[in-house]
Amino acid sequence: MEADGFEEVVFFHDRPSGLRAIVAIHSTALGPALGGTRFFPYASEDEAVVDVCRLARGMTYKHAVCGNDMGGGKAVIIGDPSYHKSEALLRAYGRFVDGLGGRYVTAEDVGTSQADMDRVRRETRHVTGVSESLGGSGDPSPATAWGVLWAMKAVAERLWGSPSLAGRHVCISGVGKVGAALAQHLAEEGAKLTVADIDEAAVDAVIERQGAVAVAADTAHTVACDIFAPCALGAVLNATTIPELRCDAVVGSANNQLASEADAERLRHRGVVYAPDFVANAGGVINIAEEPHGYDRARAYDRIRTIHDTLLAVFARAEAEGITTAQAADRNAEERIASVSRVRLIRTSH
Ligand code: NAD
Repeated sequence: MEADGFEEVVFFHDRPSGLRAIVAIHSTALGPALGGTRFFPYASEDEAVVDVCRLARGMTYKHAVCGNDMGGGKAVIIGDPSYHKSEALLRAYGRFVDGLGGRYVTAEDVGTSQADMDRVRRETRHVTGVSESLGGSGDPSPATAWGVLWAMKAVAERLWGSPSLAGRHVCISGVGKVGAALAQHLAEEGAKLTVADIDEAAVDAVIERQGAVAVAADTAHTVACDIFAPCALGAVLNATTIPELRCDAVVGSANNQLASEADAERLRHRGVVYAPDFVANAGGVINIAEEPHGYDRARAYDRIRTIHDTLLAVFARAEAEGITTAQAADRNAEERIASVSRVRLIRTSH
């Protein structure tokens, strides 16, 4: 906690429902800590603590760089969601979240769904990603895809002098909720598409709708194209795959695309423009951060488009300071936290 400046790590336990959860609040310097609840069968409590802290810290940077007035937090529920999840457990969890008084605001993540957040909502207001009928913004995936599209437009402007993606060749690895929505946007932009997924039905659906070409999932990163878009798993950019890339840029929704920090430098060395994942995939969190103000889709989607300008600023800084785009994004986030949180020291009437 001390090394990474965490504010609070809380353990929740409710024996009758079997709830065992941990909430990590990394920083509330910019606002309430907002981050999803991961429901996962961690092998040990130690493993869960390490994961929740790593994820919470990442949220601080993601909110800060994309201009949200939100801090970084995350929660984990220890257990197998298919076996341990119940109404009582989720509602007990909601009551504990409520007890944090709004310092932490939850959302869905791996192992939890919109329906689960609706249950949590019955016990606390401090939850986002609930159903539209409850005033929520619903599934964040379309918003994330919209953000990745605008990240690609920034890359196009940087590399080719125009945000247009018409005629550009994009290879999408993973056409699930985000990847498929992205394919649709790109087809509307007139881009040429290659797609890969381990799920054949997912690939077939995109081919049928958008006329894409299919490639095997394990070779997607080697396709000669303008932009490679990882939209499946993390760690796809590593010492083995980076030398095999034949694209000008990498822009995708997958979290933690770099296997290690050294991989950002490897990409820079190869002259591949990398849109840091936590900037390119921020559309979902920009969308849910709009919920506490009364959700308005048009306003949220306008804000998501600012990912374009955020990325151009990251690229400019990376070039000016001779650093990787990942480092530039981190520095922009850290500077915004330091400068904006200082403003709160100015006394106002409340
Ligand atoms: P999803 O589960 O709907 O889709 C993932 C797809 O990747 C699936 O179709 C799956 O079959 C495929 N896949 C799995 N392994 C693969 C492999 N080795 N090669 C190619 N395809 C493979 O998930 P999603 O919601 O579309 O999210 C995609 C990625 O974006 C994830 O890394 C997620 O963490 C990240 N992300 C999603 C959101 C969001 O709003 N959904 C927001 C931020 C980040």
